[in-house]
Amino acid sequence: MASPRLGEPGTRYALNTPALILDLDALERNVARMAEAMRQAGRGLRPHAKSHKSVRIARAQIEAGAVGICCATLDEAEIMASAAIPGILVTSPIATAPKIARLVELARQAPDTMIVVDDPRTVEALSAAARRGGVTLRLLVDIELGFGRTGVVSAEAAEHLARAIHADPFLQFCGLQAYGGHLQHAADHEERVALCRRAHAFISAIVRHLGALGLPPAMVTGGGTGSHAIDAAEGPFTEIQAGSYVFMDAEYRAVSYAKDTAWPFENALFVQTAVISAHGAGTVTTDAGTKSFALNGPKPPIATPRFAGAAYDYAGDEHGRVRAGPGGALPGLGELIECVVPHCDPTVVLYDHFCCVRQDRLVDIWPVDARGRR
Ligand code: PLP
Ligand code: MN
Repeated sequence: MASPRLGEPGTRYALNTPALILDLDALERNVARMAEAMRQAGRGLRPHAKSHKSVRIARAQIEAGAVGICCATLDEAEIMASAAIPGILVTSPIATAPKIARLVELARQAPDTMIVVDDPRTVEALSAAARRGGVTLRLLVDIELGFGRTGVVSAEAAEHLARAIHADPFLQFCGLQAYGGHLQHAADHEERVALCRRAHAFISAIVRHLGALGLPPAMVTGGGTGSHAIDAAEGPFTEIQAGSYVFMDAEYRAVSYAKDTAWPFENALFVQTAVISAHGAGTVTTDAGTKSFALNGPKPPIATPRFAGAAYDYAGDEHGRVRAGPGGALPGLGELIECVVPHCDPTVVLYDHFCCVRQDRLVDIWPVDARGRR
């Protein structure tokens, strides 16, 4: 999708729609702000690449000081490793032979790769594969914080895994991961602080327990965009795994950052859609519907200032309906609106490319590198 007009004025508004618009100025400020916040807090930052699936963005995060990159899946990790992105941490366990074989290959290619485990049977299987493959696998014990997704639920279970990994010549015990998905979007700041503190106490008790056994975790990794400030200020983490902050999204915008304090991150990711029917019934119809936005977030808010009072709603797979606000304008036939992405990660994967803009100029087109890979 090369454009001969890259960089010319107005090119932001000459795209094929629906288009995924990435505001590079906002993205760069978000990357720098999180990097600086973690530096000031004395914590590492290993941002989650699940949000962007983009080698370019991962590289920008590393250049801003990130210690590495988190990946949700082996697919993402393979893409990042082949682009020589350092410090990959796979934040979900794997359990099947094909994936274990891929992990061994990945560890051969990028020996600093880490992955989490939460089951002794997986530890055994990884040990056997590492021995056969002639590699050392670097493992973290995953701690469950109440979301009911992955991770061990007790200090004893963590101890069991840590001991098994530590005793194994083909495995290296690198520390703990503790991520609370359910903590991130608690809309009220006080409530989020309380939930995070409970999680911190639980993790700290496990850290102390392992320390007393001579197995102190060198790394404690966790936290997301919603909890990062609380986690960095008072949590037991050596590093934070936030992902969505690079783009922000409507779902996070609805969460209160802190009392009387606005989010330090800007909306950087938008879907641009064009009016294809202005039929005069008080609404107009655009060319972005349920195939153009992730549906597990709020309705996409309209970001285009001139139509900011209008409301977007889904009107089918390929259609959106825009209703004017009280006394407000509606876009006309062929006019464009841009909506903030409702939930960034699952929206990104609906597009092949980021259309990178600075103000009214299309300045670059970046692939969603791990798109189509899970
Ligand atoms: N760490 C893990 C294990 C995750 O699953 C996620 C997101 O789902 C993150 C970090 C990043 O969280 P966020 O996108 O809320 O910043
Ligand atoms: Mn998400």
